[in-house]
Amino acid sequence: MATMDTPPPGSPPGPPASPRPLLNRRLAEFGTTIFAEMSALAAATGSINLGQGFPDTDGPEEIREAAVRALRDGRGNQYPPGPGVPELRTAVAEHQRRFHGLSFDPDTEVLITAGATEAIAAALLALVEPGDEVIALEPYYDSYAACIAMAGGRRVPVTLRPVDGVYRLDLDELRDAVTDRTRLILLNTPHNPTGTVLGREQLAAIAELAVERDLLVVSDEVYEHLVFDGEHLPIASFPGMRERTITISSAGKTFSFTGWKVGWITAAPALVSAVRSAKQYLTYVSAGPFQYAIAEALRLPDSYFDGLRDELRAKRDLLSTGLTDAGFAVYRPAGTYFVTTDIRPLGESDGFAFCRTLPERCGVVTIPNAVFYDHREQGAPFVRFAFCKRESVLKEAVERLSKLRR
Ligand SMILES: *Cc1c(COP(=O)(O)O)cnc(C)c1O
Repeated sequence: MATMDTPPPGSPPGPPASPRPLLNRRLAEFGTTIFAEMSALAAATGSINLGQGFPDTDGPEEIREAAVRALRDGRGNQYPPGPGVPELRTAVAEHQRRFHGLSFDPDTEVLITAGATEAIAAALLALVEPGDEVIALEPYYDSYAACIAMAGGRRVPVTLRPVDGVYRLDLDELRDAVTDRTRLILLNTPHNPTGTVLGREQLAAIAELAVERDLLVVSDEVYEHLVFDGEHLPIASFPGMRERTITISSAGKTFSFTGWKVGWITAAPALVSAVRSAKQYLTYVSAGPFQYAIAEALRLPDSYFDGLRDELRAKRDLLSTGLTDAGFAVYRPAGTYFVTTDIRPLGESDGFAFCRTLPERCGVVTIPNAVFYDHREQGAPFVRFAFCKRESVLKEAVERLSKLRR
């Protein structure tokens, strides 16, 4: 490999100038993720990894078979159409109508992406002008901050605060965060990492604010089917929001195929067209054969969606109870894969230090919530556990964590 301190021919002798950092300034703060560090720690210590949110069992056998069939039949092995295969776009539109009563034209109002991750990136790259402000609910999913930075935007966190065992959004705080430079609100409900599901009143107030201040809303709803208490309401269904909302979802969490990276947006034609302009130069297209399989998955009967949710609810309960018994204060999540806990009842206050020593102390890996904050001190005593794992794994984790109590 060429090195930076080899002087080019003709350079004067002397010490090399201090090398310019390779990673550009926009991304300097996003050099490494905590997930890499914690997953390495899990492997090195033989720990149970409840850090990263992916299921340890695959999605439905029939959907895997559908992907194999598509591959064998030569469907999707070459570049699929830029907006996604028509079968999947139609299935996404049907799904939005079936579950949320929203109608979208599969040809002009649906765009298939490389997971929700690309949808988020493409939406922000398409809609944010350098210097625009983007409001995001803190703590937030880690890709939001990086994508806002890549778009040259300025992130404005509005903090969800723990009150009486649940995380709450302060609507006055949200209203105060809007300025003349605000371009959009980046919402996430059900919310990772807190498990909060925004209710009807809160969404109505956010919608009113967006209309009043003429803001766009990008709504990440990848956990739309994983709501254990209450119901998921898409903000696009509120008055005035159909034309200003980009709704994002994906097959990863709903069908336990996080490796397939099939995601989508639904929005008004002008918004889809704008996002497609960015998306076509990111991946152009992806996951051809998997798109056909996910089209079938979206048409699975209600029993599939109910079963997934009920199974995860039981896992939430198992882990939440275990964590409570081990001495954590537990914020019982209404949705998602994750439970947030407060470590202060265990006599601890620094989530980073706690997570770095937990593998050695009891063979479990988890994530400090501080990584999801701009205001790190707000997240300091909280850690997040994933419960999208086999029951036997969760039971073993609970058993190991019970050592903390002694
Ligand atoms: C997992 C996750 C994503 C990423 O979804 P992919 O389809 O795997 O790209 C996006 N947003 C949130 C909140 C997530 O938890």
